[in-house]
Amino acid sequence: MTTATSILEEVLAGKRIGEEEALFLLEHGDQQDLALAATAVRNRHNDPARVSYIIDRNVNYTDVCQIYCTFCAFYHKPGDKRGYVLTKEQVKQKAEETKALGGTGFLMQGGVNPDLPWDYYLDLVHYITHDLGIWLHGFSPVEIQMMAKLSGQSLQKTISDLRDAGLGSIPGGGAEILVDRIRKKIAPLKGGPEKWLEVMEAAHEVGMKTTGTMMFGITETMAERIEHFRVLREQQDRALARGNGGGYTAFAAWPFQSGHTVWEGKIAKPTDVEYLRTIAVARIYLDNFAHMQSSWVTMGKKTGQAALHFGCDDMGSLMLEENVVSAAGTCHSVNKGEMLRLIRDAGFEPWQRDNIYGIVDPTPTAA
Ligand code: SF4
Repeated sequence: MTTATSILEEVLAGKRIGEEEALFLLEHGDQQDLALAATAVRNRHNDPARVSYIIDRNVNYTDVCQIYCTFCAFYHKPGDKRGYVLTKEQVKQKAEETKALGGTGFLMQGGVNPDLPWDYYLDLVHYITHDLGIWLHGFSPVEIQMMAKLSGQSLQKTISDLRDAGLGSIPGGGAEILVDRIRKKIAPLKGGPEKWLEVMEAAHEVGMKTTGTMMFGITETMAERIEHFRVLREQQDRALARGNGGGYTAFAAWPFQSGHTVWEGKIAKPTDVEYLRTIAVARIYLDNFAHMQSSWVTMGKKTGQAALHFGCDDMGSLMLEENVVSAAGTCHSVNKGEMLRLIRDAGFEPWQRDNIYGIVDPTPTAA
């Protein structure tokens, strides 16, 4: 008979689990057993003593958006006078502040702004990378879909042009839950899961590194969470088989923040326990992902630390600037000293990394 214990024994023996087993673990696995198994998978990919973090800045170059996701409290509609597009001068100031604090990159995403032409993006990418000297981890799949339309090119050629202009890597924003039923319900103009996945596939095909994400707790079933993991694992298998350097560097999951959205008061945020169980099963199932990020920004510092014992090897960013989650009413922040303390107090050495999980310093960060 299959039990959570027998499944976890298979995990500890190095075997890959299937979707049914992952669902069984998510629903019935013992919390401590999940933590132990997730840690074992984490340690296959990472130094057990090491937890990484990054100093970068979330830059939202525009908040004008025509996609109208029901869970988003950040955007303004095209034509709304409150909408903005950052000037080059503003971008430059953000880059200088980031570098002065030891930061290495921008995580840059925006709304899907119909007023910006294709050349705008190539020019912005070139300016940030070559003039300002900042690594650009930029543009979620829905933005890249729009750029492909604007340029009249394939996704592969669009991404290659962005890379030639200086784009370093692509974030996995906007995945939410990669199941048709949920995406139709929460972001009907974004298209089905295939729209997000085809951008990631094209990026991996041209050798680009990307990240995988999941925003959960938005009326999906547990089985739909596992379906999300399944499509990511299959895509990463294909990417690794190509051997061209493209693929997912990491997976990050965070719960939906309903504040200031149409869902406020209608949907309960997943509990800390549910968050930890979900990331532990993700860590166990996504055995071909090297890194997994703790979401202390949405879950708070204590749960962020606990996640390091449920399979996460990365504490993410210092969040020098965060606009999207804070627009929904939730944003925890730390300074560098506190980030180092959180990692050390959880029992690990802090190592600064870059946007593609390369180590910035050859030694752990000193106090
Ligand atoms: S989540 Fe992104 S795509 Fe959706 S409305 Fe907000 S800014 Fe637009």
